[in-house]
Amino acid sequence: MAQDQRDGTATGGTQSARMFPPRMTRSQPQLATVYAPGSIFTWEGGRGACLSVPIDGAAIDFSARQTRRDQIMESLQEFCQNWLVRGMAIVRDAAIYEQQLLDGCFHNPMRQGQASVDIALDRFEFLRPERMGYLPGPLVYRCDTCALVREYVSPAHQVAEPLPITCVSDGDQPAHDSRWRQLDVVYAHWSGGIEGLSPYRYTMDRGGSVQKIPRCQCGVENFRLIKQGNQFSRWRFVCTGCSSQREVYQTDPFSLNLLKPLIDAGTPHQWSEINMIPVSYRASPVFYVQTARFIVFDTDPEVITLMVPAREDDLASRVAMLHGFAGTDPSDERIKEQLERNAQGSIFATYEMFRVREATARAAGDAASVDIWADAARSTLNGWYQAGLVSREVSASPALQTQVRARANYARRYDPIRSTVEHDALRRRKVNLAGEAANLKIAQADLCAEFETVELQRAYERRVADDLARAGIEEARLIRNLDMVEFSFGFSRVSATPETTQKDRRMPVRLMGFPPLPSNKRPIYVIEQQNEAIYIQLNDAMVAEFLRRNGVLPQPPTPPRTIGGSLIESYQDFGLFLKDFSVRDEISRVRARDIASMTYLLVHSMAHHVMHGIARFSGLDLGSLSEVIFPADLAFVVHRRGMTEDLGNISSMWRDQNSSFLRYLVARRELRCGSGTLCDHRGGACPACIMIPETSCIAGNQLLSRAALVGGRAPLWDTNQTPLQGFFQVVQDVRNAGAAPAPG
Ligand SMILES: [Zn+2]
Ligand SMILES: [Zn+2]
Ligand SMILES: [Zn+2]
Ligand SMILES: [Zn+2]
Repeated sequence: MAQDQRDGTATGGTQSARMFPPRMTRSQPQLATVYAPGSIFTWEGGRGACLSVPIDGAAIDFSARQTRRDQIMESLQEFCQNWLVRGMAIVRDAAIYEQQLLDGCFHNPMRQGQASVDIALDRFEFLRPERMGYLPGPLVYRCDTCALVREYVSPAHQVAEPLPITCVSDGDQPAHDSRWRQLDVVYAHWSGGIEGLSPYRYTMDRGGSVQKIPRCQCGVENFRLIKQGNQFSRWRFVCTGCSSQREVYQTDPFSLNLLKPLIDAGTPHQWSEINMIPVSYRASPVFYVQTARFIVFDTDPEVITLMVPAREDDLASRVAMLHGFAGTDPSDERIKEQLERNAQGSIFATYEMFRVREATARAAGDAASVDIWADAARSTLNGWYQAGLVSREVSASPALQTQVRARANYARRYDPIRSTVEHDALRRRKVNLAGEAANLKIAQADLCAEFETVELQRAYERRVADDLARAGIEEARLIRNLDMVEFSFGFSRVSATPETTQKDRRMPVRLMGFPPLPSNKRPIYVIEQQNEAIYIQLNDAMVAEFLRRNGVLPQPPTPPRTIGGSLIESYQDFGLFLKDFSVRDEISRVRARDIASMTYLLVHSMAHHVMHGIARFSGLDLGSLSEVIFPADLAFVVHRRGMTEDLGNISSMWRDQNSSFLRYLVARRELRCGSGTLCDHRGGACPACIMIPETSCIAGNQLLSRAALVGGRAPLWDTNQTPLQGFFQVVQDVRNAGAAPAPG
């Protein structure tokens, strides 16, 4: 094997020395995930296995896009904190240590708890996954004829001492042509360690240092591997000198170093925590790449900068403004006065024109145009608010101010204050802009199959508006290019999550950074891409009625105050893992439903329902979709999450299938579950119905229930066990009553 990208790795002794690992060619998403450093892979058609290794590449220059870089570091920080907290929560007789959960590049052992997560920028290098190196490995070979095993410590070692062509006569084995084959079983450990299936064991000597002794007690170095069947427990290494037998097991050097002294000291740690397990890497994964993703807000650095403690006052006024705490809009007359006072009276004319057209459209019953002119007037006015030409009375309530100060301790992922600021950025940069997003209520040439005549367009608009209203949806927009970053930064072994059970014992799984580059920095592979997405906002009057009927909101807030404002004022931290909401029995219930949990339950369940609909009609599978929930804004985004190029599946689904999709949305039978009452009793969500793959769900499939949409049993975590009234039921009732819901 001498050339780059050759398929098939030689296992014989023909390798030539080289200075650099060879490189492979794969697509960027593949290099960033399945072929990321630390993975073991076999070449198609070839027999040999290789280990991916990082190689230098052009670092991504984020100097002009620091927000993007900061967002990567923030999501990495959050990921590591979640991992640590989840792992430290393992309950067993022996202690768990932070270094068993986090690789050194993510961890500062001088601190404790969440503060010990330490993601220092200078430890990492951001790379595009364009190039990846590989080395042959694991370097353990066995002769198919005589079962003799040969191990190398490095590719260079193998180059220096190639595998022999013949096996010499030894005991009852006559001399023969060797038939070397790379062993496709490795030892793996949840600490992140991986080793070839060596007959030599790591041990700790009296001085406390860990070593691998490359010989039998009799002094002979050669072992045969005798395989009896497929069970590793029946495999044995047999010494060619004294015929003594060894079981197939290895100790994990990292865990040996950490735990052996503690076992000797009489703590309840066990050898099962130290021993590695044999795994066939063809049959089961030994590498779980870890990735994270987010929507990019480059043009809105405030999405990051407003979140720091020093800017709490600014954040409070921003949230106050977004949720109508800031008092009402001034009348048009007052707006004009304020502009004149600021010597800007002339710019009022444009605004006045928008308002006149809005009124004209309203008189003509042209709802679509009303929206357009109202939007235009609103954004003009917002521009003046921002420019300081027109002001409202800012009056963040004491409750809101308290929340802004308390949020430092809230789980970032569910923080409604952060999400409301991000939602605002998304609206201004994408959702509200005609070139960036399409209002699906309005016929568009490329999104409406019936675009030929004005009559057909009107028919489309009436039908879509009516179907959306029946689903309680206020707004539905197609975002054409949602800027996203997806990055991979490390891996775990044995389990994809912070915990694994081995030999009936709960074990912490270590989150590893990728192995270092020659510069000693750890690579982070970044893919920047644009995906289609659907933005949905629910009707606030319908949500208010849903919350009222389910007993958490006595009456809708008086405009311009919003449900989101009340939600934020009364929010109680959901916690990193929604622990209170994963309760499955009566005794453990600690939480009663409130505005925040009911709203999240509703918006999240609706997002899953929409995702299932998109999966059914677009050909995208659920695993390639994901969601972002904006609970305080009664909104969510469902987006494609593939790292590969977006082929427009969501827009073509809308164009060709929108009527089936909309019918699906409100069809009650689509929200029945095949598991029937079993599912209802388990909280109204299961893999057979509304759940989605864990990697796609923002909330680990918690705070999710079909009952939020169609009614049914109260959530299992809820101390208030009054059955839920479903959102679709509420919408239908309100529409039948023919009027907006009355408060009280
Ligand atoms: Zn042989
Ligand atoms: Zn021996
Ligand atoms: Zn179900
Ligand atoms: Zn979800």
